[in-house]
Amino acid sequence: MNRFCFILFFILLFFVFPLHADTNGNPFVLVIDPGHGGKATGAIGKRGKEKDINLAVSKLVKQYISEAHPDVKIVMTRTRDVAVDLDERADMANKVNANLFISIHSNSIRKNHQLNGCEVYTFGLSRSEENLEVAKRENSVILLEDNYKEKYEDFDPNSSESYIIFEFMQNKFVEQSVDFATMVQKQLVKTAHREDLGVKQAEFLVLRKSTMPRILIELDFISNPEAEQFMLSKEGQETLAHSICNAFTEYKKDFDRKTTAQTESDTHQQRSKKDL
Ligand SMILES: [Zn+2]
Repeated sequence: MNRFCFILFFILLFFVFPLHADTNGNPFVLVIDPGHGGKATGAIGKRGKEKDINLAVSKLVKQYISEAHPDVKIVMTRTRDVAVDLDERADMANKVNANLFISIHSNSIRKNHQLNGCEVYTFGLSRSEENLEVAKRENSVILLEDNYKEKYEDFDPNSSESYIIFEFMQNKFVEQSVDFATMVQKQLVKTAHREDLGVKQAEFLVLRKSTMPRILIELDFISNPEAEQFMLSKEGQETLAHSICNAFTEYKKDFDRKTTAQTESDTHQQRSKKDL
C-alpha cells in the first residue's frame, strides 16, 4: 500500500467510525449492571431465576452495543454467576467515570400472576405504594451481603420508614436519566412488544451513589408464566437486548450532538477571548 492509500484509509476510517468522545476527549463509558447473582437469586419463577435472565440479557446488550458502537467502552459489574454488593456496583461505575449506568432486572409480584409488562425506573421518591414495593424487593438483596447494617447505616430495606432518608438526598442527572428511561421504555414496547407499565421512579439503592445518568429496567414479570417463558427464550432475550441497544443508539446520538455543540461553543468562546 503506498502512502497515499494509507492516508486515504485512515481518512475513510475516521468517517466510518467517528470517535465520539466527551468534551475532554475521553471515550463514552457505559456500565451494564446485571442485577443479583450468586446466592442472591432475585425473583424466582416457575422455571427460571431472575439472576440468570438479567445476566443473559445484559451480555447480549453488551454484544449488540459493542457491534453498533465500537467507540464505546463497556464495563459489566458482573460477567458470571457471582454476588456483587449494591454499593460496589455503584462504586465501579463511579471509578470508571461512566457516562451512563443501566441496571437490568426482572420483576415479580406474589399475588397477581396475570400482571405483565415492562417498567423503567429512575432514582427518586416513589410516588406510589407499588413503586415502593418494587424498590423494597430489589433493595432487600442487601440482607444477603456481609456487614450490611454497617455498610448501609442500619438501613432496613423492608421498612417504609427507612426510606425517608431519600427525601433529603440530592439527585443529579434527573433529566438525562428520564430521557433515557423513556427511550428504553418506548423500545421495549415497540420492539419487544411488552405491555407498557410506564417510566417510574423509586429509591433503588443500586442507583443511589452513582454519579451519572442511571436507570433500572424491569424487563417483565417472572411471576407471569407467559412473560417468564419469553424472558427465558433465546428469541425473547435477543429481542429485549435489541430494544435496549436501539434506545442506547438514540441516546448516544443525542449525547454526541450535545457534546459537539458544547465543544464548538467552548472553542468559539476561547477564540472570542483571544480576540479581545
Ligand atoms: Zn432484581
